[in-house]
Amino acid sequence: MKKPVYLDYAATTPVDPAVAEDMIKYLTPDGVYGNPASRSHALGWQAEAAVESARQQVARLIHADPREIVWTSGATESDNLAIKGAVEGRDNAHIITSVIEHKAVIDTCKHLEQNGVEVTWLTPGLDGRIGVEQVADALRDNTVLVSLMLVNNELGCITDIAPIGRLLRDRKVLLHVDAAQAAGKMPVDVSALNVDLMSLSGHKVYGPKGVGALYVRRSPDVRIQAQIHGGGHERGMRSGTLPTHQIVGMGKAFTLAEAGLEAEMDDLERLRSAFLDGLEGLDGVTLNGSQESRVPGIVNLAFEGVEAESLMLGLRDLAVSSGSACASATIEPSFVLRGIGLSDELAHRALRFSLGRFTTSEEVAFASSQIVDVVTRLRAVR
Ligand SMILES: *Cc1c(COP(=O)(O)O)cnc(C)c1O
Repeated sequence: MKKPVYLDYAATTPVDPAVAEDMIKYLTPDGVYGNPASRSHALGWQAEAAVESARQQVARLIHADPREIVWTSGATESDNLAIKGAVEGRDNAHIITSVIEHKAVIDTCKHLEQNGVEVTWLTPGLDGRIGVEQVADALRDNTVLVSLMLVNNELGCITDIAPIGRLLRDRKVLLHVDAAQAAGKMPVDVSALNVDLMSLSGHKVYGPKGVGALYVRRSPDVRIQAQIHGGGHERGMRSGTLPTHQIVGMGKAFTLAEAGLEAEMDDLERLRSAFLDGLEGLDGVTLNGSQESRVPGIVNLAFEGVEAESLMLGLRDLAVSSGSACASATIEPSFVLRGIGLSDELAHRALRFSLGRFTTSEEVAFASSQIVDVVTRLRAVR
């Protein structure tokens, strides 16, 4: 079978070959396979040095101190650790989040809600963005945490986090930001944003799956309760033997992302324009989410009179997604699109196209011509 054109970079990215090359050095008998916690021999020390160097690499991309980085198994675990860890042990806690967060945040908040934590669910406008006034209005005396994503994984829109961070710093409320779709896709600076906790993932940035990090601010000092107990790794915040190869891969991936950020953003903007230009022959196409405040790699489009499910079947040569990957096994319309106020009917007509580092001009030209053909054919047989 011919390989489809991959336009699902927001679901996951391939590992950059330079990342894979570094990872293998920490796996095999001729490599540095020691346990980074082993203090008694060189293979342990070398593994530890590799982990610490990767910690610096990840910290650098978000302008953090390496001591503020806690390794996890991915952004899902980071979200769980940040939210549960901040709330645990606080009586009568209230948290604020939104209805278009990633499931890792939504389901964690729902779990806490079932266990007596009060949760306010903010609803964005059609642009997919939560404003600082909405957060200000929802604050209560017992609010301990606000959790909002920096870039939405279905729409690509960017939340204006900085003013929310300033507001919460003054009120001594913690701010957690899921930045899995933002790191390596736009400049991210934890200090400029006044973020206390930030979730990161390896595999959205050309690193391996199964590794992530949580940024935990040191000044002012943020305290969270561990959710996985064991050998007291990661200063007690997350136990478990560190997966050296995964961590080295994530570090390398974040370094590549930092070095190439501007050029890659320009490239993606150009590819995105070419993709949309290629669809100009079609009418009845709507771009969902903010048109201005967005990352260039994610394009969410609704096609009038065409069901996304039929369109996806017709687009067999493209790897795309209707909503988030976890939801694409079901035919429920995307909760994110419903969350920004689209009707079920419109939400059923939307597809997400996400472009990335290895996307070519030929691929986007092919993709748009396929879409024009299939949409035209489906509309004709209505
Ligand atoms: C992919 C993603 C996650 C989950 O990350 P994993 O590393 O796969 O656990 C969380 N939040 C957002 C916004 C994502 O895009």
